[in-house]
Amino acid sequence: DAEEPQDAQGAAAPKKFPKGVVLGPDGKPCRSCTSFASWAVMAKEKTKDPNVATTTTTTPPAAGTSSLAPPADCPPDVEQLGRSSWTLLHSIAAQYPQRPSPTIQRETSTFMRTFAKLYPCWTCAEDFQNWLAVDANAPRVSSRDEFGRWMCEAHNAVNVKLGKEKFNCDRWEERWRTGWKD
Ligand code: FAD
Repeated sequence: DAEEPQDAQGAAAPKKFPKGVVLGPDGKPCRSCTSFASWAVMAKEKTKDPNVATTTTTTPPAAGTSSLAPPADCPPDVEQLGRSSWTLLHSIAAQYPQRPSPTIQRETSTFMRTFAKLYPCWTCAEDFQNWLAVDANAPRVSSRDEFGRWMCEAHNAVNVKLGKEKFNCDRWEERWRTGWKD
C-alpha cells in the first residue's frame, strides 16, 4: 500500500483520506487499488460511526496481508483482485500448449501486454507495465514450462515489491497444474 494517499498523477492527495487509500484518475478513492482494511478506516471516518469497521470483521480474513476482507458480494479490494487475477494467469499458463504455434505465442505476448494496460488497479498496472517494458522481462512463450516460469517470475517481481517472500519457481507446475507431489 502507498505510504500516503496519491492521485493518478502521483501527487499527494488531500489529507482527508487515510493512509493506504489510493485515488483513481477521477480523484475519488480507487477501490480496486486499496486494501479493504484502509477502505474500512475511510468509511468509519466518513460516517463517524464506531460500528462501521467492526461490522466488517464478521467476514473471515482472507489469506492475504490484510486482516479484513470485503464481503463476498462486494467489489474486490486490491488483494482479492490480485489473488483472482494470479489464479487466472497461472491457470492459463498451466493449460498453455507444450508446443505452441507461432500465432498462439504472438497472441499470448499481446494478451499479457494488454492485460497489463487494462489491469483495474492503476498503480499496479503502471508498475507491471514498467516491469514488462524491460527487455529481460518480455513474456517467454515458447513452451508451457517457459511461460509458467515466466509467470512465476512476474508474480515474484510483485511479491518482492510488496515485501513478500519469493515463490520457488521450480514448483510452479505443482502449485498450478499437477498438485503437490508430497
Ligand atoms: P497472491 O500474491 O495473490 O498469490 C496467490 C497464491 O499464488 C499464493 O497463495 C501462492 O500459493 C501462489 N504464489 C505466490 N507467488 C507465486 C509465484 N511467484 N508464482 C506462482 N505462484 C505463486 N497488490 C498491491 O498491493 N500493489 C501492487 O502494486 C500490486 N500489483 C499487482 C500486479 C499484478 C499484475 C497483479 C495480478 C496483482 C498485483 N497486486 C498488487 C496484488 C498482489 O500481487 C496480491 O495478489 C495480493 O496482495 C494478495 O496477495 P496474497 O498474499 O493473498 O497472494
